Amino acid sequence: MTRTAHTLVIDGLTIHRPSGDLLVRDATFTIGPAEVVLLVGPSGSGKSTIVKLLGGLLETGTGGWRVAGRLECGGAAVDLGAERSTVGGIVFQDHALFNDLSALENLRIAADHARHRPDAGLIADATALLGDIAPDKSVASCSGGQRQRLAIARTLLADRPVLLFDEPNSGLDVAMARRLGELIRDLCRTMGKPALIVAHHVKDLLPVADRVLLFDTRRRCLVEVPRDAEAIEAELLKLDGTAAHPARPQARRRSWPDAIGHRPRGYWFGRYMAEYFWELCVSPLMLVYMGAGALIMGFVSMWFGFHYNSFGGYLKSLLHDETLVGLGLVQGTVAVPLISSILFVARNNAIIAADIGNRVLSSQFQAMDNLRITARGYIVSAILVNMVIGSLMLLVLSLGMASWASMQTWHVQFPMQNFELWRSQFFRKLLPDGIHPAPSMMWVLLKVALSALLAGGAAIVIGGGRKESVLEINTAIARAIIVGVTLTLAVHAVISVLTL
Ligand code: ADP
Ligand code: MG
Repeated sequence: MTRTAHTLVIDGLTIHRPSGDLLVRDATFTIGPAEVVLLVGPSGSGKSTIVKLLGGLLETGTGGWRVAGRLECGGAAVDLGAERSTVGGIVFQDHALFNDLSALENLRIAADHARHRPDAGLIADATALLGDIAPDKSVASCSGGQRQRLAIARTLLADRPVLLFDEPNSGLDVAMARRLGELIRDLCRTMGKPALIVAHHVKDLLPVADRVLLFDTRRRCLVEVPRDAEAIEAELLKLDGTAAHPARPQARRRSWPDAIGHRPRGYWFGRYMAEYFWELCVSPLMLVYMGAGALIMGFVSMWFGFHYNSFGGYLKSLLHDETLVGLGLVQGTVAVPLISSILFVARNNAIIAADIGNRVLSSQFQAMDNLRITARGYIVSAILVNMVIGSLMLLVLSLGMASWASMQTWHVQFPMQNFELWRSQFFRKLLPDGIHPAPSMMWVLLKVALSALLAGGAAIVIGGGRKESVLEINTAIARAIIVGVTLTLAVHAVISVLTL
C-alpha cells in the first residue's frame, strides 16, 4: 500500500489563554512531508499548547482558550476558531500509557481504534522500536526509555497525518536523546509524515531537524531561526523569563520567598486535619445522604412499629406507651447507630481507598519519605481521627433527624396526642432524666467510633497496597467498602449482643 504524504500548513494562528492573555499572534508555518521541525522556546511560552491544538485537545469555547487561524493538511482545511484539528498524533511528555493494559494491549487498542486499520508495513515500522520489550510486559515494569518507545509506537499506529512530540528528550541522556531523534527522523522519512518536535535540550535533537521554529515570547510570535545550536541557545537565554511573566504588571502578587516563610509541624498537621475533616465529616453531599437515611429510618420504625398490632388494633392504645419506649430504645441504640455507621463507612472508605491509592500510584508517599515528611503522622492520623470524630458527629445528627421523623410520623398516626407524651416515652430508656444519656449510650458511642476506626484503618491498608494502574485503585475502593461494612456489621453485632 502506498502512503500518502501531506504537508501541514498553519496560517495566521492566534491563541489567547483562558485568562485572556495573548499567547501567540498570527503565526504562520509549514511542515512538508517527511520534514522534521523543532519548536523551541522558554518554559511556559506555549509550546505544549500548540501541540495540544494540533492534536485536537485544546479546550476552547466559553471560559477556555481562544483560537483563530487556519490549518490545511492533505486537502482538508480547518478553521481553527470553529473546529478541532484532528491531524496530529501526539506523543505525550509523560507518555500517558494505559497502565492497566500490557505493552501489547497499549498498541492493540490504538491500532483497533485507528481511522484505517494499520497495514503490515506500518505495524512493522511501529514495532521495530520494541525489540527489547516482551509484549506481555506491564507498563509499570518498563524503563523510562521503553515507555517512551511504546508511546511513540502507539501514536504511530493511530496513523494520524502529522506526528507531534512534546519534549520527547526530557529525562533522557545525550546518547538516548540522539538515538530517539534519529528514530523519529527515520520514522518520518519512511512514513513521509511531517513531524513537529517540542525540544528540550536543543542540541540533542538539532542534528535530525530540517528547520527550527523559535517561540519569541517578547513579540508573541513564531520565527524561523538558523539550525545553529549556539545561536538558538543565545536567543533562548535572551528570552528567558519573559514567558513566565505576562506583559501585564502583577503588583498584588506576593513574591515566592516572602510567601514561603516558615510553618511549624503543627500547621501541617492542622492543614491535613482540615482537609480530611472536610472530606470525611462535613462534605455537604454526605450530610444530605446520611440525613436522608436517618429520616427514612425514623419514619419506617415508627410507621411499621405501630402498624402491626394484634387484635385488629384494639391493643394499640393499651400498648401505646410501651411500644413507644421499645421503639425509642431500638432506634436509638441499635437501628440508627447501625445505619449511620454503615452509610458513613461505605462512603468514607471509598474516599480513603481512592485517596491513598492515588497517592501510591503517583509516588506521593515516596516523595514524602524522601522529603522526610511522615505520611503516617499527617495523613494516616488525620484520616483515623476524622473517622472517629465524623462518625460520632454524624451519629448525633442521625439520631436527631431519626427522632424528629419518628415524632412526626407518630403525630400523623395519633393526631390527638401531644408531643410531650411522645417525648417522655420515646426517650424513657435513652435519657432517663430527660437530659443526660443513659450509661448504656456509652456502648453505642463505642461501637460507632470503633467500627469507623477499624474500617478507616482497613481502607488505609487496602488503599496503601502496591498499585500499578488505575484499575487497581478501583478494585481497592470496592474492597475497602466491603471490608469496612463487614467490620462495621461485626462490631455492632458483637457490642450490641454483649451489652443489651
Ligand atoms: P510550554 O509547553 O511552552 O512550557 P504551555 O503551552 O504548557 O507552555 O503553557 C503556555 C501558557 O499557558 C503558560 O503560561 C501556562 O501557565 C498556561 N497554561 C497551560 N495550561 C493551562 C490551562 N489548562 N489553563 C490555563 N492556562 C494554562
Ligand atoms: Mg510544555
